[in-house]
Amino acid sequence: MDYCCICNASETIDHIFFHCYLAKLLWGIIKEVFHLPHIPKSLKQFAEEWLQGKGPIPVRLLMFLFAGFTWALWTTRNKMAIEKKFSKAPTDVMHIGLSYSCSGLFFFGRTESDWEI
Ligand SMILES: [Zn+2]
Repeated sequence: MDYCCICNASETIDHIFFHCYLAKLLWGIIKEVFHLPHIPKSLKQFAEEWLQGKGPIPVRLLMFLFAGFTWALWTTRNKMAIEKKFSKAPTDVMHIGLSYSCSGLFFFGRTESDWEI
């Protein structure tokens, strides 16, 4: 079994994306920005409720946010665990996640007619 490079807990998918300190920081910020009553506690809950449109964020926006932030978490954690490179501030992962999410919204959030000159 692998252990989290941040808090030494068992490294599971739910731990990496929902329970670890860095994930909680990201979800906490998302909760405040969107005035959410709660945040998902597991991938199962996220998939069964939020991705089915039962959550408080529209599914299309949620997909971009989730893809951007999970990729930011994954790459940040890999840099820590493999390359031993640590961010100067935990909020760096938020900026990376926003960057990925905005890139996705810019490129994939458009319709074909948006690209016509
Ligand atoms: Zn952890």
